[in-house]
Amino acid sequence: MEFDYYEILEVSRDADTETIKKAYRKQALRYHPDRNQGDKEAEEKFKQINEAYEVLNDSDKREIYNRYGKEGLKGSVGGGFSGGFDFDDLGDVFSSFFGGGFGSQRSSKNQYKYSLDIEVGLTLEFNEAVFGCEKELKYRYKTPCKACNSTGSKDGKKESCIQCGGSGKIGVKHGFMQFVQSCPNCSGTGQSIKEKCPECNANGYNETTQSIKINIPEGVDNGTRIRVSQKGNQSQNTTGDLYVRIMVRDDEHFHRNGDDVYIEIPVFFTQAVLGESIKIPTLRGETTLELPVGTMDKQQFVIAKEGVRNAHSKHLGDLIVQISIQMPKKLSDEQVELLKELQSSFGIKTGEMASDKSILDKIKSWFS
Ligand SMILES: [Zn+2]
Ligand SMILES: [Zn+2]
Repeated sequence: MEFDYYEILEVSRDADTETIKKAYRKQALRYHPDRNQGDKEAEEKFKQINEAYEVLNDSDKREIYNRYGKEGLKGSVGGGFSGGFDFDDLGDVFSSFFGGGFGSQRSSKNQYKYSLDIEVGLTLEFNEAVFGCEKELKYRYKTPCKACNSTGSKDGKKESCIQCGGSGKIGVKHGFMQFVQSCPNCSGTGQSIKEKCPECNANGYNETTQSIKINIPEGVDNGTRIRVSQKGNQSQNTTGDLYVRIMVRDDEHFHRNGDDVYIEIPVFFTQAVLGESIKIPTLRGETTLELPVGTMDKQQFVIAKEGVRNAHSKHLGDLIVQISIQMPKKLSDEQVELLKELQSSFGIKTGEMASDKSILDKIKSWFS
């Protein structure tokens, strides 16, 4: 998710804080989830606007961003912005701006600091990805801790953080550079827990392991993400989504390139010379390949629509057969005689190049 903080707020790079504040109000109002129910694009935009404002409204962070870009801010921005999203926190930001109204129905104070969406990796065998399958997936999801109302504190009490003195920020040195980062002890809140909640060990949430069955559609590939709606982490009033990121194991024989599949077929040199019909395997069975007379090593033949069916477009890829010519490693006396006879029948003499002998004469002429 690469975007420029100034561009997203539609302000110039030298805009003053008042201008940034105004721009934020305008954009945040426009893309607020309450006004764009169920609109994923608006939700994404809203996250970006808030992330941008978090940085540009803070002169230290803005300075770092101007000089080093987002790289310089790593770890200090957007605790919950990586995928899932904490609406309730933003509800607070919002009511401080607009005096309630928006987000007020979410205003029950929620402290959870985790993304609602979860991403889990799943490794498939080559054929499972090509043909689709049903898979059992075990994963963990978070639920807010009821015992402490997600505060992580036994009695709900907090005190000023010792590490940052309540500011929520600490200075970190990288060589001679000084960076300002969010305090890791209090996650930038400036407050720490007095007595840990025993239910959740001060996390503010509990984790549950569960197994679900997922239908893997035909044709998924490395990097495909499958969204399983409403199976992510939970907050008090919403549930995130589960994203399953597919990884596919290589096959010994078939190599996949998008929807096309490659296979190398060994062919004995005499078969290649003579040209033959040979039976070869395909993804779904077998087919006959007609080798022309004088088939070359590495020559490719395309067998249309014998590849993978694209998971989205349903278009069928091709099977591409590449010939690998096999030479005999050992010859019997009889085979040597037969081959010599064959060679001379083509008019090729022992110890001479097969063609274009003129090159030898040409080199000789350079020195005569
Ligand atoms: Zn708790
Ligand atoms: Zn702190």
